[in-house]
Amino acid sequence: MNSVQASRERVLVAGGAGFLGSHLCRRLLDEGHHVICLDSFLTGTRRNISSMTDHPNFLVLRHDVISPLTFDIRPTQIYNLACPASPQHYQADPVHTLRTCVNGAFNLLEFARKTGARILQASTSEVYGDPHVHPQPEGYRGNVNIVGIRSCYDEGKRCAETLFSDYGRCKRVQVKIARIFNTYGPCMAKGDGRVVSNFIVQALNGSSMTVYGDGSQTRALCYVDDMIEGLMRLMNSVDTFQGPVNLGSPRESTVLDIACRIRRLVGTDSPIEFEPLPSDDPVQRCPDILLARRHLGWEPKIDLDTGLRKTIAHFSESFKLAESDREF
Ligand code: NAD
Ligand code: UDP
Repeated sequence: MNSVQASRERVLVAGGAGFLGSHLCRRLLDEGHHVICLDSFLTGTRRNISSMTDHPNFLVLRHDVISPLTFDIRPTQIYNLACPASPQHYQADPVHTLRTCVNGAFNLLEFARKTGARILQASTSEVYGDPHVHPQPEGYRGNVNIVGIRSCYDEGKRCAETLFSDYGRCKRVQVKIARIFNTYGPCMAKGDGRVVSNFIVQALNGSSMTVYGDGSQTRALCYVDDMIEGLMRLMNSVDTFQGPVNLGSPRESTVLDIACRIRRLVGTDSPIEFEPLPSDDPVQRCPDILLARRHLGWEPKIDLDTGLRKTIAHFSESFKLAESDREF
């Protein structure tokens, strides 16, 4: 199945100025669709979307999704990506994060109901918490701390999935739910504290690479282009295909391996520095992607070294630009 659509859609991307959102907006524009990027610019930036702002099919709306949407627009598709994704950002104002997850989902679902748009929720592997089942299939109900420092995000995203499911069941809205696992690539925010951005910045600066805990915890890293393809395939999948779908790489690495790999690819001798593990940090995470393979014909294509090389090249380029800005 190919995600390129024959029809031209009007697509609302909530969170469109963020890391995943800006890649999605670009891909949709390139395929000839009209794109409305709605964002509060909490963690997203104007720079992420600057190459699109002059495009005749691109519109930017500044809005916080915790408030209802009253815009006079009629999208045919809505992607809800509006939510800070890095632990550092979503823990900065946990109450606002929870309201973004829950009120944001409610407001966008109401907007979808009124406009007749189909709507996709960017959910997360965090709904599995610190899982006891490996790899995690969609049927696993997770092991989530209700009152921990990650709960605003984990429980908020779980509640959003419930809202999406109920709007699908009771209010006849066409809903799709993507459970996104760790994704990386160009345009990740440098200072957002996520593992790939932190390690690349540290390696390029030749400073210590901060491995939390002993680095034996695992993540499976998916390159952004593969993720965007998966999200679009899910959005355009048949109406009868409902329920959450895992999207992510099935290749698991330890955090220490990720640090060593990035150090090798950058060609630096940055030392590894071990720091305390943050509380509730999941020990092992890796998706079972059987459902996505079977129903969407999707699986990641870009191997870790190739994806990391592209990401390192992007960060390195933006460092050079920042330096030349300082010289003038
Ligand atoms: P990001 O922080 O780069 O992007 C989030 C975007 O949403 C930003 O542009 C931000 O300004 C905007 N936003 C945040 N709160 C908002 C609000 N209340 N109203 C309007 N806009 C708001 O994060 P990302 O990595 O691009 O993640 C996008 C989505 O995918 C998030 O919903 C996240 O939970 C989900 N996700 C991402 C990953 C990942 O590895 N990147 C993994 C799992 C789930
Ligand atoms: N991590 C790390 N050093 C860092 C940043 C993150 O060791 O500088 C670890 C973190 O403790 C976690 C993993 O890398 O075990 C992934 O962290 P990230 O914040 O990227 O995503 P998440 O924890 O949400 O999966």
